[in-house]
Amino acid sequence: MIHMENISKSYPGRRGEPLLRVLDNVELHVARGDYAAIVGPSGSGKSTLMHLIGCLDAPTSGHYRLEGQDVAGFTAGELCRVRQEKIGFVFQGYQLLKKLNALENVAFPLLLRGVPLRRREQLAMEALEKVGLCARARHLPSQLSGGQQQRVAMARALCYSPSLLLCDEPTGALDQTSRDELLELLGELHEKGHTIVVITHDPCVAAHAVKRYRVEGGRVWKA
Ligand code: ADP
Ligand code: MG
Repeated sequence: MIHMENISKSYPGRRGEPLLRVLDNVELHVARGDYAAIVGPSGSGKSTLMHLIGCLDAPTSGHYRLEGQDVAGFTAGELCRVRQEKIGFVFQGYQLLKKLNALENVAFPLLLRGVPLRRREQLAMEALEKVGLCARARHLPSQLSGGQQQRVAMARALCYSPSLLLCDEPTGALDQTSRDELLELLGELHEKGHTIVVITHDPCVAAHAVKRYRVEGGRVWKA
């Protein structure tokens, strides 16, 4: 699914400062059906790596094949299409639209893809069912708990059946009960065959995944 070889990512230094090399010749392989956690201290490059995996940004150098497709040299437009086709994002802080109810939030990416209304509602309801939230479909985000909002965000990422579910700090803002529920849900999705990559600094979340990778000092290794 994810094959990264000799991937480096540098950011330009400000006002004549040298390049900041955040990732230095890293290698990362995630197979279809894997459940992987990416851990590392703050500032080590986890989000940078997630942006590369998620085709939100392109590496400075190296090879990245996503489902066999060499995306390292893709233009912004091409990367956008890959994201729409292959990747479900669960961002930190949920990023739900406040004025839309749960069902409408989940259906939103389908609207962007031109899926007709009836079909959108059907797929969104199926995704809400996967996360156990059908009964809350007509509630606004403000009427849902943090854990429920997180599950709506998860349903939204799942509604178009992406090959890869990519979660950035999915438990960052959750209490322990909600976190445990979310971990249970991730475990179920993994059992159903979804490929999951979770960025986290929570040791419980990392321990729950099947594989762990550590990002530190520009390197990535299997922990
Ligand atoms: P993490 O997610 O592990 O906390 P990041 O990937 O966000 O780390 O950042 C890694 C390093 O790269 C940090 O030093 C950060 O300041 C720097 N960085 C991240 N994004 C940019 C950017 N767009 N431009 C310049 N520097 C950046
Ligand atoms: Mg980060």
